[in-house]
Amino acid sequence: MKKIKVLNNVFSLFFPKVCLGCKFQLNTNENTICTTCRHDLPETNFTNIPKNALEKKFYGRVPLNEATALFYFHKKGKTQQFIHELKYKNHQEIGELFGSWLGEQMKQSTRFKNIDYVVPVPLHPKKKKKRGYNQLTKFGVILANKLNAQYCENILIKTESTDTQTHKARFERWKNVQHLFRLTDLSFFKNKHILLIDDVVTTGATIEACSQQLLKTKNIKISIAVMTYTE
Ligand SMILES: [Zn+2]
Repeated sequence: MKKIKVLNNVFSLFFPKVCLGCKFQLNTNENTICTTCRHDLPETNFTNIPKNALEKKFYGRVPLNEATALFYFHKKGKTQQFIHELKYKNHQEIGELFGSWLGEQMKQSTRFKNIDYVVPVPLHPKKKKKRGYNQLTKFGVILANKLNAQYCENILIKTESTDTQTHKARFERWKNVQHLFRLTDLSFFKNKHILLIDDVVTTGATIEACSQQLLKTKNIKISIAVMTYTE
């Protein structure tokens, strides 16, 4: 153990840890993202706001208990950069950081009480194999830990792989995601409160499709927590 620590110190002498936002060297008390970049992140403060914009997005679409997003997603902004590092550059520590940031907020809020399971929007196994990880796992495990809930990614699954849907119109996208998800067990979440999580919410089509599947379970309650929300 001691040997590893010495090697780590020598390593950091030559390759100092840099902020994933601005690439400047991190202070010893900073982790992953420097203090300046953290202050630049556009927090939504939705956690303590009932009827926030994210909740309103699902009115008439999915009956939700509560919904929150940690940050606004700004194209070409820092949030887009961090999500990109998390999804495509194996920087899973961003998921950990966002998980404890949002988890702490939710824990201290009077909302989001009695969550039983934290459930990620699933990745198709093929895509997970290619990427090597689900970018929501670390985020979800930490959220579950903070909320005294369990993390569960094997009941809600993705059955078909899709090409990127970014450029399709809203209705086309909605049509396309409707049959992509399935529950492996229709009673597992019976009488439970689920916190469904994702990285970015734009149209809400994916969350809606996942919720439609979850709602096949009797007496289920659904809340939403996402890393970023696009206005
Ligand atoms: Zn920075």
